[in-house]
Amino acid sequence: MTFNDFSLCSELLKALKEKGYTEPTPIQKKAIPPVLEGRDILAGAQTGTGKTAAFALPLLEILNRRGEVRKDPRVLVLTPTRELAAQVGENFSLYGKHLPYRTQIIFGGVKINPQIQSLRTGCDILVATPGRLLDHVQQKTLNLSRVEYLVLDEADRMLDMGFIHDIKRIIALLPGKRQNLMFSATYDKEIKKLCNSLLHNPVLAEVREGNKTADKVNQIAYKIEHAQKRHLLAWLIKKDSWYQVLVFVRTKHGANRLAKQLVKAGISASAIHGDKSQGARTRALSEFKSGDLQALIATNVAARGLDLQGLSYVVNYDLPQVPEDYVHRIGRTGRAGESGQAITFITSEDAKQLKAIEKTTEQTIPVTNPIGFVPVVTAS
Ligand code: AMP
Repeated sequence: MTFNDFSLCSELLKALKEKGYTEPTPIQKKAIPPVLEGRDILAGAQTGTGKTAAFALPLLEILNRRGEVRKDPRVLVLTPTRELAAQVGENFSLYGKHLPYRTQIIFGGVKINPQIQSLRTGCDILVATPGRLLDHVQQKTLNLSRVEYLVLDEADRMLDMGFIHDIKRIIALLPGKRQNLMFSATYDKEIKKLCNSLLHNPVLAEVREGNKTADKVNQIAYKIEHAQKRHLLAWLIKKDSWYQVLVFVRTKHGANRLAKQLVKAGISASAIHGDKSQGARTRALSEFKSGDLQALIATNVAARGLDLQGLSYVVNYDLPQVPEDYVHRIGRTGRAGESGQAITFITSEDAKQLKAIEKTTEQTIPVTNPIGFVPVVTAS
């Protein structure tokens, strides 16, 4: 199967060719046809599966089939984080580069006035995080009454982050006659409830069963005392000359502290989390992407949905509190045909949580001692 089989317009095919995509990914094969037919869909797909193009391509195609360019958005994409909003917006612009439709991205944490200015110029596609979107609605700088296509991207994460009320408020502002696309990596009671209230007779497009972890990821867990974690991490990075690693920690404070400790150990590292300014987050991300930064230390929320290609190592420095997050985290590696390594640090308090993760992933994670690592004795 090729992209030609979807009868996409030549402008989209040209952009895909330039991007070097030859074949649709499984989620694209499943989602693009029903979206083009005007159906609501519920798509179960993690980041890294090509899910963004699975909605961006058919929506651009639909806009193009309908022809006119408008001032008020017809496509609204809601995302949980700023980074994901930026990424999704970039994808629309990229795939639609030979088409006249304009994409705007709005998210919180940056000044609202420049966004108001640029919204004045109009757009066909709006990608937004829920809170800032509502700010604009309140200030009457945005008209949502023309939205005909709604995408909830990473819906499960939006619910986890407590956006349900914002989402409901936004949906209430939209015209009733709409096509709704919902993407979620996991499927639980809350998601089911949202589906039932939002989607009409949806087509289910799933590429991975439940919470199974990526096949290509090698998983290992190291037993380690809490105080030795940072030394073990620095040791692993140096010993195996890890080119790049994404490290998950539980708290913002912990992320800052670990980044500083790694820098002290001679490893270029930076933290990314919700308290950092947008500028700092964007800078850290682009330094990491360009290879200038060896270790990116992230909290769950900040890392969700980041498109980091070719990542070989992910470290769960602290275990996630929710087992499903383990799946999301290690989904950053082993993508698009590459293999990856997920390393999890386990302290004596983590046994119960590890069991919960193994139950969710239906896999056993081998636990060993880090052979060759000599604990570092410090005064503190
Ligand atoms: P996503 O799951 O949307 O974050 O996409 C993951 C990565 O796969 C992104 O870097 C996309 O640019 C890339 N991608 C999406 N569709 C394809 C495709 N059909 N062929 C190759 N790469 C793709």
